[in-house]
Amino acid sequence: MSRPARFEHFRWLGDKRNLRVHDSDHPTEACRIDELMASERFSCFGPDLLAEARNRGYRPCRHCTPAGARE
Ligand SMILES: [Zn+2]
Repeated sequence: MSRPARFEHFRWLGDKRNLRVHDSDHPTEACRIDELMASERFSCFGPDLLAEARNRGYRPCRHCTPAGARE
């Protein structure tokens, strides 16, 4: 990994430490996105969709993910 992924290119950001996926369009203080980026334990998804994150075992963050997407 030579360069970190950038927010502009990825909406869904996974935290490998707890398998939570965050919506970087609507981050909250509770998400600690800055801390996640600093830890470099994040992952991005291709395609960049919540469904893809879920397929990989990530659970939507309850702070930033739209309620309708958390079925
Ligand atoms: Zn979140």
